[in-house]
Amino acid sequence: MNNKLYGNLIFELSRPGRRGYSLPNNRYGGHSTKELPPELLRREQPSLPECDEMTVVRHYTNHSQNNFGVFNGFYPLGSCTMKYNPLINEEVAAMPAFTALHPLQPAHTCQGALKVYDAMQQMLAAITGMETFTLNPFAGAHGELTGLMVIRSYHRSRHDDCRTKVIIPDSAHGTNPASAAVCGLDVVEVKSGADGLVDLDDLRAVVDRFPDEVAAIMMTNPNTLGLFEKNIPEIEKIVHGCGALMYYDGANLNPMLGVCRPGDMGFDVMHINLHKTFATPHGGGGPGSGPVGVRKGLERFLPVPRVEKDKAGRLFVNTDGDEALGSVGAFFGNFSVVLKAFAYILSLGKENIKMVGPLATLNANYIKESLKDLYLLPIEGLCKHEFVFDGLKDKSTHVTTMDIAKRLLDEGYHAPTIYFPLLFHESMMIEPTENESKETIDSFIGVMRRIAEEAITNPDALKEAPRRTPAGRVDDVLAARHPVVKYVNEK
Ligand SMILES: *Cc1c(COP(=O)(O)O)cnc(C)c1O
Repeated sequence: MNNKLYGNLIFELSRPGRRGYSLPNNRYGGHSTKELPPELLRREQPSLPECDEMTVVRHYTNHSQNNFGVFNGFYPLGSCTMKYNPLINEEVAAMPAFTALHPLQPAHTCQGALKVYDAMQQMLAAITGMETFTLNPFAGAHGELTGLMVIRSYHRSRHDDCRTKVIIPDSAHGTNPASAAVCGLDVVEVKSGADGLVDLDDLRAVVDRFPDEVAAIMMTNPNTLGLFEKNIPEIEKIVHGCGALMYYDGANLNPMLGVCRPGDMGFDVMHINLHKTFATPHGGGGPGSGPVGVRKGLERFLPVPRVEKDKAGRLFVNTDGDEALGSVGAFFGNFSVVLKAFAYILSLGKENIKMVGPLATLNANYIKESLKDLYLLPIEGLCKHEFVFDGLKDKSTHVTTMDIAKRLLDEGYHAPTIYFPLLFHESMMIEPTENESKETIDSFIGVMRRIAEEAITNPDALKEAPRRTPAGRVDDVLAARHPVVKYVNEK
């Protein structure tokens, strides 16, 4: 456990006059401020912590050990896909040839970076069966918004302005309806059937109600229950049949890599989360990237800037296009994330990338089958990279998914995604990813089985978990209602 002396706030460790650094002299040979115009100088010293170097080093080292990440242990967070982030990717992204670039420098001085951008567009197109991509959106939700804007531009270009409704399955990720709303479109929900898949009769009914107003359907496949939507050909007929487009939420493309392609399934527009599918750090660990792909014929609606080739084969930055969306964010998005994902794809190679889907699927099914006698599996059958339990099978114990999640923290595991999807009361969404060893997975299964036993033998102890983490069970309602976001020294 951490040394409490260094675990306080850095301001509490401050002592007047302590120094842990020395700055080089400025070009006038001193620490004077005379290079700055007087009106810009502070009248008062800023209130900064004053600490010696060791205190600072220990303070941050101890805090870093209060975190949990994929480098600490198993992180089965369904939908969010916390897969291993190889450090070679970080090294590539940190190469001075990339970090010293300026986004406004002339194209002929940064052909290498443009080449990476172009190659990545092509690799993603090959992996997904789309015609081309933009790498500019900053996250999955941002990709959804960009993709929906492309769809809206398409309908407008055909003077089909009444198409303002987006059909979204009830199992969808929350960002789908949010993105549609931000895009000014109305959300129409389509129900899941007892098999967890989009209910075709309900879909037909929805489309029949307003065939001329549907802009698109947004689908996640495998859906958020980890189930493969096997009725895509039928869905495609219904949706394209009424003149609407098919949007594919490929945030988590893990199980599909090298196995099947959204483009071949009839999807017109899609996004991928590089920060889930292609192993770049996210959440507290780094920014995202949500490239958007389109089928042939829709390229002209993609946002600028675009990286394109001129007649001589040189790459240049195109900021024009009569029908193009404007810029959806600064410059080319999170290019460092693109570099990391690029390195990841290249280090796997064309052959190994085909192993990602089958291994992620095998691991998820192995856990599901090993636990379904103790945890309630609402939908039987083969899953893909993830699956959902609806809490414990034995409903007499009053032990909740929250209690189980908290207890896992004590055992050194991150909790699964809990209370999502909203289809079940006690959802627990488990995604092991392809990277884990059988030993790690077996020990997780062992702990989950022990917790299920404890739910019967010692349920009170479960209600008190976690007891071994730096913070115990926090009141998340209080934190949401009365957030304290500023340091207040109560002494
Ligand atoms: C994570 C996720 C998103 C949103 O991605 P962000 O990068 O968090 O905005 C959308 N859809 C699905 C299915 C996801 O898992």
